Amino acid sequence: MKTRFLIVGGGLSGLSLAHQLQAAGLDWQLIEARDRWGGRILTEVIDGQGYDLGPSWFWPGQPRIEALLKKLELGRFDQAYEGELIYQDENGRVHRGQGFASMQGSRRLKGGLGKLIEKLVTQLPSERLHLNALVSKITNRDENAEFPIEVSTETSANFSASEVVLAIPPRIASQLTYAPGLPAQAMTAAEKIPTWMAGHAKAVAIYKTAFWKESGLSGDAMSRSGPLAEIHDASPSEGGPYALFGFVGVPASFRSEHPEALKDGITKQLGLLFGEQGARPESVLLQDWAFDPHTATSFDQVPLNRHPVYGRPDALKNLWRGRLHFGSTEMGSQFGGFIEGALEVADELAASLIKNSSMSSVATGGARGD
Ligand SMILES: Cc1cc2nc3c(=O)[nH]c(=O)nc-3n(C[C@H](O)[C@H](O)[C@H](O)COP(=O)(O)OP(=O)(O)OC[C@H]3O[C@@H](n4cnc5c(N)ncnc54)[C@H](O)[C@@H]3O)c2cc1C
Repeated sequence: MKTRFLIVGGGLSGLSLAHQLQAAGLDWQLIEARDRWGGRILTEVIDGQGYDLGPSWFWPGQPRIEALLKKLELGRFDQAYEGELIYQDENGRVHRGQGFASMQGSRRLKGGLGKLIEKLVTQLPSERLHLNALVSKITNRDENAEFPIEVSTETSANFSASEVVLAIPPRIASQLTYAPGLPAQAMTAAEKIPTWMAGHAKAVAIYKTAFWKESGLSGDAMSRSGPLAEIHDASPSEGGPYALFGFVGVPASFRSEHPEALKDGITKQLGLLFGEQGARPESVLLQDWAFDPHTATSFDQVPLNRHPVYGRPDALKNLWRGRLHFGSTEMGSQFGGFIEGALEVADELAASLIKNSSMSSVATGGARGD
């Protein structure tokens, strides 16, 4: 299949870029390795309610997500924070009314962030969207041809494009095969950029009641003994089932080797922190991103202890004479790493691709395929 712009990666950045190219009337296709859209945005639906296993929050001062939700008529609500906090010390002792884990001021999407992905996908023409298309090799055949870049997938048809956007984490992009090979500085730069949150695992415990609220607790807890290190309320905006979620604080190697012990440890800890009902969830959802090959590499298994400075390194600019672009949130200089960063990068790329294509259209009398 031939296309002007091929977007690789159907997370928020790829989908947002597709929307903008579509609105500009340009020719594009979007291919995604997984059998679902959204990438790091993943929402599990239980009894009609959404529980986020990837990101949950966005914040005031992030204009793009705010505007997008308004445009798509999706509602937000505030992260629950009222009530006492809990702190668990390194000896496992529980201190009520202490801690600093409150995410007061953070915002969540009604129904979970998966609703955003759902809405973006349903507004795009389905014939341009391809799931189950894992890209393995990208070849730049002939710089003078109209569609010089060939993108081979392991699982679906191959594509030829004038330009390719890699809306995938740069570390994942560094594992693909390029012919001719990309400059060594580009490969090193891509490999060095940590994928935000890729080393983390998130657990969501689902309950029939929000029993912690009844006893005056917010659902926030910080723990120095684990297995969960930071816990928050993850209940829907209205009604149940209710939920608490936590970031798992034990190393990735333990998580993969002892999954049952981990789940057991999580329910025991929730019982210790929130009372005996905490130890009896209806179910526990566990998503370990560190072992997801479309998000993390082995370099990501040690979680970051601070937010990196993101942005597009010079070595990743103007590749293959400007025909190959990196385009995940990690390229965002202002909001890199966040969902706002995915939108920031999509906006920047859309502006430049649309501008260049109107210029080349003028130069060729509009003959380049859009
Ligand atoms: C546990 C967790 C919690 C987080 N919490 C927050 C939060 O509260 N707030 C916030 O703002 N951000 C948060 N983030 C970060 C947020 O999820 C990301 O910023 C955002 O989702 C990135 O979107 P993206 O489209 O740039 O990349 P991705 O979502 O990673 O999308 C890349 C896509 O490319 C696909 N892909 C990969 N390799 C290939 C290939 N070879 N061929 C084809 N397709 C491929 C992937 O399957 C994926 O769909 C969190 C992330 C995680 C994991």
